Amino acid sequence: MAHYKHIESAVIHGGIYGDFHTGAVSTPIYQTSTFEQDGLGKPRSNWEYSRTGNPTRAALEALIAELEGGAGGFAFSSGMAAIDAVLHLFQSGDSVIISSNVYGGTFRILDKIFKQYGLNYKIVDTSDLAALESAFTSDVKALLLESPANPLLTVTDIAAASEIARSKGALTVVDNTFMTPYLQRPLELGADIVVHSATKYLGGHSDVIAGFVVVKDDELAEKLHFIQNAVGAVAGPFDSFLLIRSIKTLAVRMEAHVANAEKIAEALKSNPAVKNIYYPGLKSAQGYEIQKRQAKNGVVGQMLPEFPAVRIYPKSYIFVL
Ligand code: PLP
Repeated sequence: MAHYKHIESAVIHGGIYGDFHTGAVSTPIYQTSTFEQDGLGKPRSNWEYSRTGNPTRAALEALIAELEGGAGGFAFSSGMAAIDAVLHLFQSGDSVIISSNVYGGTFRILDKIFKQYGLNYKIVDTSDLAALESAFTSDVKALLLESPANPLLTVTDIAAASEIARSKGALTVVDNTFMTPYLQRPLELGADIVVHSATKYLGGHSDVIAGFVVVKDDELAEKLHFIQNAVGAVAGPFDSFLLIRSIKTLAVRMEAHVANAEKIAEALKSNPAVKNIYYPGLKSAQGYEIQKRQAKNGVVGQMLPEFPAVRIYPKSYIFVL
């Protein structure tokens, strides 16, 4: 945590807090496209045009960077827009390794969009470190993983996987959507880039679609800002405000999600109709020890018991498949 010792304080006060101009303690919604200039190339403030930078979005971006412990944060109009921005770091002829059960949209954008421009991908079970190591060839420029992954909550040892990627000269990108920085901070474990669908726990109220990229150093921050401005799928000022507001309660919400998920997992464990529960918070689950080591006090994300399938999300919504 850059400024706050406790993440419970950082979620409330972190990043750029309040408003410099008025002293308002809540960041205002700067709902503007353009900022006045005193002449050609003479902006009156640090702000010129809201695709390039907007004070509400900047407050949010500083907040997520602080929570993930990164050098720069970038807010996008969706999680997929964030992933798209990261994939723009690579070129035709490069390859990306993705873990075998990443979010379907991540696979789709690689398979149906980026492949046609010559960016290739390989699918690897990243929980198998030997398999991961042998998948690196000289064209592989990045490892993109989720841990726990969507949908089977497969756990990958982020520190070990990042170390392998670094030794091969590749970046490690971790989709931290299911954990949030409250439970897991991949940059501290050795990853280079974190992405989020902020639509999920960070937004937390089912009223905003958004995404984040957080990078570990200034060089990547410069590249990401260039891509964000050039491609343009930025988070709007109102969505940025909603996210700042949501993140203030992240700590208490995540504690409640974890407590709920643990209770549901325990209850399902003793139900004879349930064959298997995919939930890394259970001692019997794949990756339990790694999860305990690399994430705080347990797991939320979705829990997927095998047939007769009830899919249980931490908010205790129950879907019968
Ligand atoms: N990453 C993960 C793990 C997801 O679950 C999702 C969406 O479900 C995304 C990325 C894409 O995010 P969005 O729906 O905000 O575009």
